[in-house]
Amino acid sequence: MNDQRTVAYFSMEIGLETGIPTYSGGLGVLAGDTVRAAADLKVPMVAVTLLHRKGYFYQRLDAGGGQREEPVAWIVEDFLAEMPQRASVTVEGRTILLRSWKYEVKGIGGFQVPVYFLDADLPENSDWDRTLTDFLYGGDSHYRLCQEVILGIGGVRMLRALGYENIERFHMNEGHASLLTLELLDEEARKAGRRSVIRDDIEAVRKKCIFTTHTPVSAGHDQFPLDLVRRVIGPREDFFDLTDMTSQELVRRVLGEGEEFFDLKTILSRGGLLNMTYLALNLSHYVNGVAKKHGEVSRLMFGGYVIEAITNGVHAATWTARPFQELYDSYIPGWREDNFSLRYALSIPRQEVWTAHFRAKKDLILHINRETNAGLDVDVLTLGFARRAAAYKRGDLLFHDVERLRNISAKAGLIQVVYAGKAHPQDQDGKELIKKIFVAKEILKQDVKVAYLENYDLELAKLITSGVDIWLNTPLPPLEASGTSGMKAALNGVPSLSVLDGWWVEGHIEGVTGWSIGKNSRRAEVKDEQSDDASSLYHKLEQVIIPLFYGERDRFIDVMLHTIALNGSFFNAHRMIQQYVVNAYFH
Ligand SMILES: *Cc1c(COP(=O)(O)O)cnc(C)c1O
Repeated sequence: MNDQRTVAYFSMEIGLETGIPTYSGGLGVLAGDTVRAAADLKVPMVAVTLLHRKGYFYQRLDAGGGQREEPVAWIVEDFLAEMPQRASVTVEGRTILLRSWKYEVKGIGGFQVPVYFLDADLPENSDWDRTLTDFLYGGDSHYRLCQEVILGIGGVRMLRALGYENIERFHMNEGHASLLTLELLDEEARKAGRRSVIRDDIEAVRKKCIFTTHTPVSAGHDQFPLDLVRRVIGPREDFFDLTDMTSQELVRRVLGEGEEFFDLKTILSRGGLLNMTYLALNLSHYVNGVAKKHGEVSRLMFGGYVIEAITNGVHAATWTARPFQELYDSYIPGWREDNFSLRYALSIPRQEVWTAHFRAKKDLILHINRETNAGLDVDVLTLGFARRAAAYKRGDLLFHDVERLRNISAKAGLIQVVYAGKAHPQDQDGKELIKKIFVAKEILKQDVKVAYLENYDLELAKLITSGVDIWLNTPLPPLEASGTSGMKAALNGVPSLSVLDGWWVEGHIEGVTGWSIGKNSRRAEVKDEQSDDASSLYHKLEQVIIPLFYGERDRFIDVMLHTIALNGSFFNAHRMIQQYVVNAYFH
C-alpha cells in the first residue's frame, strides 16, 4: 500500500483535532484542512510533521489581559499509534534516533491519508536531544534548526523506513521543511554512486518539489547563520556537504543570490545565512503564494522566481456548524462530497437560514456567558474577531476611537463583540494587543459589551466563526497573505467586514458578500493607515451594517445567502486541493 502514495506533504504544524495541540494558528489549521480534503478526494498523499509533545500552549488571561502560558499535557497514545520503524538524523555529529506516530485522516468516502508525527523522545537519545520534538516554535534558533533537520531530513528518511518508495512530489508547506531538498539531493547522488551533487541531481530534485510560501511577515522566513548550519548538519560522511560546495553554480542554485526583498532587508542580506525560503524557492519546480494578491506580493519580495497563487480554502464539513450542516443536508444533499454545490444555497428560504444562524448564535452566546459572565444578548448585533494576537492583524482597530464606537452603538443600534486569540510566547507586541483590548473592554463596559475568550483552538474557532453576525478582519495590508477564518464564517452564512487584503480581495463584492474597510491598495510598502481604516470601519458599521441588521433583516439575510453561495462554494479546501493536484502535483 505505502508504495502507492505519490505525494508527501510536510508541515511543521498541523491541526487535526482539538485534543492534539500541535498547531499554533492558520498555517497548521490549513495543513489539517489540506489533508482532510486530500482524503475526501482520494489524493494519494502522506503527511509528515513533528509531535510537539508539550503542545502549543494553554493560554490563561488575568483580569488585565496579561497572558500566562502553560505547556499542554496531552496523552500521545490516546490519539496516535506508534510505528515500529526507526530513522535517524545526525546533529552536531551525534545520531538522533527517531520514531513516528501515525494518525489516519479519514475522507468522506473512507479513503485515508496517514499523518506521521516525528518523535525524538527515545531512551537511546541524550536528554537534550529527547526534547527536540517537544515545543512548536519554542527555544532559540539552534533548537529550531535542529527541529528543521528532524522535519526535513528525518522526515524523508522516516518515509523511506516506512516503505514509501514511490513518492513523486514533496510539498513543503512553508520553508520549515526546506532541508528535505538536501536529503533528496543526497539520495540522487547516492543512487548514482557519487559522493557529490551535480547539476542533474538538482534538476531531478526540483522536479519533485513544491513550495508554498505563507506570509510576507519576516518572522515567517527562517534563516540561520552558516556557522550554526555547519555545526548542526555538516560535514559528515553520509550527507552531501553543504560547507564544501566548490561549484559556484551549486551555491547559486541552492542558496540563491541578491534578489531584492521589498522592505524586509534582514531576509535580503543572505551574506553568511542559510535562508530556508530561498532554499525552497531554488529547489522547487512549482512555487505558490496563498491568495492572488499574496502571489503578487511574493513576486515583489522574491524577484526572479516564477511564483503562482493558489488561494487557500477551508474544509467545509469540518467548519460548518451543526445547524447549517442540517440545513445543507436537507436543501443541498451531497454538499460534503461536493463543496461546489454550496452555490445552490441561494434557493434556501431566508427564514430557515435565519433560524439556523440563530441556533448557532445562541450556542456561542450561551458559551460566552457561561465562561466569562459577559452578559451578551442573543438579539444584539455581534461582531467576531478571533485569530492569533499578532500586531499586524490590528485586533484593536475597532477601539481606535472608543467614544465614536460608544456613540454608534447608542444611536445607530447596539453592538457587542467577541474576541479570542493567543499571542506567541515571545511576541511582546501581541501580548500588549490583548491588554489593549481588555482596557477597551473595561472602558466600554456600560455601552458595548466585549468578551475575550481564553485559549483559542479549533473548537472555539468553529463556535465563534459560526455564531457571530459579522466577521471582522483588520490586517495591515499587504501582510495578511490569505486569512482563513473569514472563509469558515462564510460557510456558516456569516459575512465579513474586512480590510481588502489576502483572500478578501477575491471574495469581496460590496453589499453582496460583505463589506470592505478602506481601499484596495496595492502598495508594496508597509504604511500605517490606522486612522483612515478605523474611520472607514466606523462608517460602514454606522451607515450600512447596523441599519441593515436591525431595519432590513431580509436584505441582511440575502447577504448571508450570497456569502454561502459565492464564497462558501469557492473558498473551500476541495477547490484548493484540486488546484494543487492539477497545477502543482501532477504537472
Ligand atoms: C482558522 C484558524 C486560524 C487562522 O485564522 P486567520 O483568519 O487566518 O488568522 C488560527 N487559529 C485557529 C485556531 C483557527 O481555527
